[in-house]
This record gives sequence, C-alpha cells and structure tokens, in this order.
Amino acid sequence: MARTMLLLTETLSHAKFHGAQFLIATLQSQAVSGRAKIDSAGRDRMHYLESEVEKYRRRVQKIKANPDPTKLKANILLYELALEESEHRWKWYQEGRPFGFCDGGPRNVLRALGMEVFSSAASGDRLGANAGPYLEAGRRFRFHESLCDRVLAGLGLVLMNDLVTPSFIASCNYPCTPHALAMASLAAHLKVPSFAIDMSHEYNADSVAYLAEQLLEMARFAEARVPGAKLDEKQLDRDQRNEKRADALLSQIQGLKAHIPSPVSGVDVIRIPRFQHVNPEKALFYLETYLQEMHERIERGVFPVPNERVRLMWTISAPLFTENVWNLLHSRGASVVCYEVGGETGSETVMEQAGFPSAEKLFGRPATPLEDAAADLAMGVWNGPVDRRLVHTISMCKRYKLDGIVHFQQSGCPEGQSTAQIMAERIEAELGLPSLLLDGRMLDQEWYNETQVFSQLDEFVEQCAAYKEMRQTA
Ligand code: SF4
Repeated sequence: MARTMLLLTETLSHAKFHGAQFLIATLQSQAVSGRAKIDSAGRDRMHYLESEVEKYRRRVQKIKANPDPTKLKANILLYELALEESEHRWKWYQEGRPFGFCDGGPRNVLRALGMEVFSSAASGDRLGANAGPYLEAGRRFRFHESLCDRVLAGLGLVLMNDLVTPSFIASCNYPCTPHALAMASLAAHLKVPSFAIDMSHEYNADSVAYLAEQLLEMARFAEARVPGAKLDEKQLDRDQRNEKRADALLSQIQGLKAHIPSPVSGVDVIRIPRFQHVNPEKALFYLETYLQEMHERIERGVFPVPNERVRLMWTISAPLFTENVWNLLHSRGASVVCYEVGGETGSETVMEQAGFPSAEKLFGRPATPLEDAAADLAMGVWNGPVDRRLVHTISMCKRYKLDGIVHFQQSGCPEGQSTAQIMAERIEAELGLPSLLLDGRMLDQEWYNETQVFSQLDEFVEQCAAYKEMRQTA
C-alpha cells in the first residue's frame, strides 16, 4: 500500500503538466504533420475518432475488394463491427454526448449510465505502428519513459486532445497499477469527477457483494455529477446477457483450439476482441462465423501450421506493430494456441472451470445486474494473488496440450514482470514445460530488435521441442 501511495504521489507530481497548453499546441502541430488532413469540422487535422472511421472504412473496402484466402473469412465482420463502432463514437462526440473512461473497470455500468466508454490504453493499442507521436506526447507531459507504453500512448492521446475529454473517470485497483494511477492523474489534470473502486483480492460472496455496493455508489455519484447520467439496470442486464451469449460461443471456440494441429493462427489468437455492443447481434454472428470456420478447418484438414511441432501460450501483451513474430513462429512449426488475455481470462465459462462460480451460484439465487457486473470484474485472472494466474495458466496448459509459454515482459508492467519468473518456475516444476521471458514493448518500435527477438524465439522453439521429446520418452 505504501508503495502504491508513493507511486501515486510521484505520478500525480509528474502530472502537473507545466506549460501544458503550450505543449499541446506544439505537439499537435508536430505530431500530426505526417497525416495533415482537413476533418469534417474543418480542423486542419483529423480527429482521432474520425481517423478511426476512415481507417476502418478503407480496411473494409480493401478486404472486400481483395480478400486474402489465408485469413479468416470472419475477419471482414470484425472490421465491419469496428467501423460501426467508430462511426457510432464519432457521431456521439459530434452530438456532445458524455464519454466515460475506465481501464480494466466497470465498462458496462458506465454504458448503462448513458456514457460511451473508452479505455485510453486500449485506444493506445489501436494506434499500432502510429503510436510514436503519442508516446512522445506522454513523455513530454513528464510521464516517465519507463511507464508501460500502452498506458503512455493512451495518456498522450488524451493530453494531445486527440481522443475525447471524458465527463467521468472510473478507476479500479485491478488488474493494473499503471492504469489506476494514469486514471487518477488524468482525473486530477482534467478536473473531471472520478470514482476509485476498491476490489478485494478474494473471490467469494462477500467480496462480490462489497464490489456491487461500490458499483451502486459509483452510479449514484455519477448521476449527481454528469448531466443526463441515469443508471438503466435493464440495459445493464441486456448487455450482460449478450456477453454471456458471446461467452458461450467463445468457450466453444476455445474448445476447438485443443485440436492438434491448432485450427487458429497466432495473429488471430491475439485478435479476438472484447464484445462490441453497438451491434450485438452482428458481434454474436461474428463469433458464430469464427466458430464455423474453426469446424470447417478441422473437417477439411486445413491448418495455419500444418506441421505443428510445438504449441505455445503467449501471455500479457505482444508487439502490436508487426506480424513478423507470428510468421516466424509458424515457419518454425510453432502454433500460438492461446493468448492469456485474449478471451481466455475474460470468459466466465473458462473462469467457472477454473473454480470461480458465477454470481448466481455464489449467492444461491438470481443475481442483480450490478452483482453480475461485480462478479465479472472480481473473477478476473489478474486480480488477487499470483496463484490465481498460476491455476488458470496450468489449466490452459493442460486443456490445450501446450509445450511452452512466452511471458512477454512488457516494460513498465509491474504485475507482469513481478510474476513471470515465479510462474515459469512453478509451471516447469509441475508440468515440465519451459518458459521464455521475452522483453519488449507493445507499441514503441525503438525498443524492437527483430534479429534478437527472432533468435530468442528460435532457440525457445527448439527448447520446447526437446522438452516435449523428453516428456514423451519419460
Ligand atoms: S501490460 Fe501491464 S502495465 Fe500495461 S496495461 Fe497491461 S497490465 Fe497494465
């Protein structure tokens, strides 16, 4: 706790933003010079939200005009959904409606309060190879270089006034300390109402009830401060039900990944998105189509890595600006079968199998929508002690018959960096599987040394193959 308070104090002091307006003006002119365009509001550069619309419109047109037979057919639905969501957000912004920020927190509750919800860090992810100016902006605002770069890029987006100014910020002590501190800093800097949620590290009826009470308190707090905000529990219930329908499909998709060889490629494993509520039926149709394609691949014997030698799990995050890593692994006969935070940890079905019952089962009665939302948050794999991640990871290793784990050591990620070595040792002791601790950043390409990354992955694939042979002959 003392360490957290110290970090909070340091981060807040970094966030005093001396000369902020000057910096914003300077950075805006510098950072966007490579993409100077006139947006529909007549600005001399394109707003991030409008550029998202353009980006996805071009992507959809390109895929339709020239479909790549090596990629999933379901991908077009994914990009159409992204286009619909970005159009919806751009319209929301133009109509002056409220946005809520929440990283790793109660998204659905903010939506049910009538806000369009953003995670600044997830928006940072979407910058991919274009994150450079926003990382620089975050640094110039005196957030330290060592901060996780997806958090830094998200802060840069907001501080450059390129994303949106939120009407409300929710933060949460799960699962990521940098997120929580970034949200606290932003709320202080932007002077917007914010609510910090205290999540217990245990998962039981008491801790879920405690969290549900806080969600209600947060809703009342927001209703009193954000014009027009009003909790709509029916909408919350609808959203949760849709997510459960998606979860059931996701669970079937996960089940098919146990097939050897894996029917899904590494890049698609990383890609499975959070549920998109703008068009829920289409979002469900996307998952149904994805599932169908998995079945078809297995029936027809068409696999991304036909001569699969080893099966890997990838954890935490990954370099988002290149597909070369996945291509390299494929070429060496290595399938990345599961990604720790790509549908694996967000799945209620998967978590239930790992020993985390739903709110209904915890309480022994139908749960209220807020209790349901609280249980979803509290059961996260990254919440609580490292043992929770460990139990989940071991169950994934068995379920998918894995041969090794790549722990992506995202620089500036205290949770990931402090747990990887413990996890690696315990998994090797229990299952005889090797781990690679691979240093890197998700967005900052200056850190990326492809020769070095390839050589580490090459060596690791051979190590996994040798360990596999030893297990088979033991
Ligand atoms: S990589 Fe780590 S520090 Fe960065 S957002 Fe994820 S959990 Fe937080």
